[in-house]
Amino acid sequence: MIDAVLFDLDETLFDRSSSLNAFVQHQFSNVDIGDFSSLSEVAARFLELDRRGCVSKLDVYGTLLGEIGNSDERLIKDLFDDYEANAWRHARPFEGMSDVILELRRSGKKIGIVSNGQTHIQLRSLLALNLDRLADAYLISEQEGCRKPDTEIFLKGAMRLSVTASKCVFVGDSPEADIIGAHAAGMRTVWFPNGAVWPDGAAVRADGMITSLMELPALIAQWIADADDWLS
Ligand SMILES: [Mg+2]
Repeated sequence: MIDAVLFDLDETLFDRSSSLNAFVQHQFSNVDIGDFSSLSEVAARFLELDRRGCVSKLDVYGTLLGEIGNSDERLIKDLFDDYEANAWRHARPFEGMSDVILELRRSGKKIGIVSNGQTHIQLRSLLALNLDRLADAYLISEQEGCRKPDTEIFLKGAMRLSVTASKCVFVGDSPEADIIGAHAAGMRTVWFPNGAVWPDGAAVRADGMITSLMELPALIAQWIADADDWLS
């Protein structure tokens, strides 16, 4: 009854906030940070301006350097280029990521990744976390020409794994893009918030919720056991 588990990438498998925090602190270690009291304060401000990846990094660097008191266009561009080329070097997964995926694979589940974003950026995070080897298929919105929450990209993900959407579980942090989107595509959903907030008045609820990836195999096993009880 559950043939595949599909995951969002950023803030679901990839601990984007802490990875980016580490990268920004490293990056600004050679930059005059003006009135900011520490590199961790600079990194925290960067993440605030980034709004979980919703703001262009060129704009984030422009605003941040403005607040530091340095609006050197060349420096903004250099920091942005450095981000594009090197942020992946600090990529780290959420605790237990590889073990959880391997456990799901051992129990016969196919594994997919469906991520919104630019191909060259998402691919680097994916490769840095070894997910090209751990997953059976990965779909990145820019490359696919459609993006979450559109049903199309979820159905493409299921098709790429040769399973039907109703036999897929989708795990993600974004209520709108991941949970509401996957639900509309007919998938069962697991919300892994990582700081995301559930919107007031949303018509859909996630079927399950976890606070660590390591809770996922047991949740799925329980669903399968419940279905078996119901059938017997
Ligand atoms: Mg995400």
